[in-house]
Amino acid sequence: MPRPILATVHPLALRHNLQAARLRVPDARVWAVVKANAYGHGIERVFDALRGADGFALLDLEEAQRLRALDWRGPILLLEGVFEPRDLELCSRLGLWHTVHCTEQIDWLAAHKTQQPHRVFLKLNSGMNRLGFTPSAFRNAWARLNALPQVDEISLMTHFSDADGPRGIAHQVAVFEDATADLPGERTLCNSAAILRHASAPLRGEGVSQIAADWVREGIALYGSAPDFPEHSAADWGLQPAMTLSSRLIGVQHLLAGDTVGYGSAFRADGPLRIGVVACGYADGYPRHAPTGTPVLVDGVRTRVVGRVSMDMITVDLSPLDAAGLTPGVGSEVVLWGHSARGTTLAADEVARAAGTIAYELFCAVAPRVPFAPLSD
Ligand SMILES: *Cc1c(COP(=O)(O)O)cnc(C)c1O
Repeated sequence: MPRPILATVHPLALRHNLQAARLRVPDARVWAVVKANAYGHGIERVFDALRGADGFALLDLEEAQRLRALDWRGPILLLEGVFEPRDLELCSRLGLWHTVHCTEQIDWLAAHKTQQPHRVFLKLNSGMNRLGFTPSAFRNAWARLNALPQVDEISLMTHFSDADGPRGIAHQVAVFEDATADLPGERTLCNSAAILRHASAPLRGEGVSQIAADWVREGIALYGSAPDFPEHSAADWGLQPAMTLSSRLIGVQHLLAGDTVGYGSAFRADGPLRIGVVACGYADGYPRHAPTGTPVLVDGVRTRVVGRVSMDMITVDLSPLDAAGLTPGVGSEVVLWGHSARGTTLAADEVARAAGTIAYELFCAVAPRVPFAPLSD
């Protein structure tokens, strides 16, 4: 029998979350962001549920090829654009739309031989200071692109640094409005946090009036995590978890007062305590920094991790199950995040928070040795 750890993707949740975005931004088209192998869920596994999106956004050319191999004929956007000149050949061949965020990418386009002019998304650095042209360089970049026979349509793009937090987006929106005011072209500004928190705020510019604009770029919310947890939970936003990471107990220990558990004796029992040993560790992608107290479901009942996470195992407190009249043993279901067979749910956001990270990282970190269940619903 294989080791019992298993990841499960829930297509109905993906569909539900995409529909929730559509209701929030009814006038915008939705990019399903599927970079990093669909945030660890697997592009091939999410594709069917998300094919109702208007396009897919990602950044690896290899992932774009996989989408075309699934026979997706609609838009694909490379969020970081091309990495070297010959990537443009693949863009021409596969009809990929690509971001242009630096002068080198314009130089490469100018030297690119193609029959098929490209659709590009010109990126403004409105304050995040990662990728994009500064406001003072933006117009010149637009004019250069506009003069190139290799370029067909130019759309305008920026990315928010604080859509999930107290600083908000107003300062970046003002920069975007000033830099783009009289330029034609479709606009895209919103990630998940901006879709949930700011999409209906006003935006001045050609033909659009809301921050949602022409296209939104939805990532984490599709996968059922709240970008602004703990201010809001996924349930607050009406989102459903699209991934369950589950395993089983492979051992039970009976501790007495003073006994310790695991490496570094990091947990010491102050009275008799039953401990479950779970087939899941950091080599599966479970966060090693998850401290004693990190939530976990055993037989659907919420309890906590105790002691240190090791490579292949974690240890959990079984006393809340005793209180619930359950007698867990070897083989009992453990849910690290997602849905239990008993109908209870544990948000990945809660586990991430306890471990000092975000659900994005947990999803992306699910290790190659963890098998995925065949798709069902
Ligand atoms: C990853 C990414 C997104 C999606 O972000 P979420 O917070 O997951 O919604 C949107 N835009 C760009 C440019 C990105 O890189």
